[in-house]
Amino acid sequence: MNKPVAATLDTGIKLVRNVGSFNFGRGAIADLAGHVESRRVSAKSTGADERVIFVIDQFFKGRSDILARLPRRHDDVVLIVDTTNEPTTAGIDSLVAEVRAVGVSVPATIVGFGGGITLDTAKAIANLLTNPGSAADYQGWDLVKNPAVHKIGVPTISGTGAEATRTCVMTNKATGLKLGMNSDFTVFNHLVLDPDLTATVPRDQYFFTGMDAYIHCIEALAGSYRNAVGDAYSHETINLCQKVFLGDDMMSDQSREDLMVASYLGGSAIATSYVGVVHPFSAGLSVVLGIHHCVANCITMRAMEEFYPEAFTEFWTAVDRQGVVVPEGVARSLTDEQYKSLYDSTVVHSKPLTNALGEDYKNTLTFDKVVELFKMM
Ligand code: NAD
Ligand code: ZN
Repeated sequence: MNKPVAATLDTGIKLVRNVGSFNFGRGAIADLAGHVESRRVSAKSTGADERVIFVIDQFFKGRSDILARLPRRHDDVVLIVDTTNEPTTAGIDSLVAEVRAVGVSVPATIVGFGGGITLDTAKAIANLLTNPGSAADYQGWDLVKNPAVHKIGVPTISGTGAEATRTCVMTNKATGLKLGMNSDFTVFNHLVLDPDLTATVPRDQYFFTGMDAYIHCIEALAGSYRNAVGDAYSHETINLCQKVFLGDDMMSDQSREDLMVASYLGGSAIATSYVGVVHPFSAGLSVVLGIHHCVANCITMRAMEEFYPEAFTEFWTAVDRQGVVVPEGVARSLTDEQYKSLYDSTVVHSKPLTNALGEDYKNTLTFDKVVELFKMM
């Protein structure tokens, strides 16, 4: 499918670390208590701290019915994550300082309960509690030296695959660098995957985040850096996304279950492969205009027909079918300076762009071409 690619390239990924274990299915949240309790028991047996840090998406602040199901003790630490903006290195540092200020250095476990922002925040805190310095010191590949605090992920919206990956995406506002802590230590020890938790997600948000899984995989399969296991994960992720988004109701019980599986598999796929043209343009929109990752991907899809013709048609068919509204015109009349920043923050992503277009990708993505594509969005 899509454009013919150059000869297959080696991803250079030699060892793949997956999540340790998971519970899956409607009502699986009931299993969380047992996992948390066993962490407290083993901490107690060694004289370690039995307290747990709960990192919770702000949506649940007002949902006492759901909060009541979390196995919290009076002395646990609860951090509510503001999801207005995506994580910043400074924001992560201040949460770590908050944890240390109440005297917790190594908790029994950290529970991340929420969307990609919340899961990434929990992952970053877990790394920083056992490693000196600040979040910005670990943006990159394999910079985390000490094993992280034990952590359990409970996703409440499906698509990014953040529950499965070895990174936690953060922006350093001082340098403009949007990059995660790519490390085996960033991978969750355990997941609780309960599709009942995604029932309250607003429809448009559900679509934007869900499509991240689809987009990761169409980009990976059209690229030249390939891995046979990653390809298999990608194919199944796309099958499930087609079932969900081209079906009658993307939010039925069955669809939410399918999308939760797709998200996990898509995250596992991306651990062994690279994205393509969509993500670099989407990153430009995020860095320069502050647009959130998943909606930025969907906006970018307006300009992707020439790169991914089949996926383009399928994507816009799904938009119509599900009746969602993808914002339009966000980059149509910007200043020269903004277009320059958009260009810079797009073409900087050499690995995915090489994956999609070859090493001389800048011959295709000239400044004028990049601006033309942004104007199509
Ligand atoms: P999000 O965390 O941005 O949340 C989206 C919105 O949905 C928020 O308003 C949130 O409060 C709300 N929400 C979450 N669960 C809900 C529920 N059950 N009911 C109602 N509302 C709910 O969601 P996302 O799209 O999953 O995550 C995006 C983030 O993930 C970005 O920061 C992106 O950089 C990151 N990301 C990480 C990886 C990775 O591998 N670590 C991969 C892709 C994206
Ligand atoms: Zn993505």
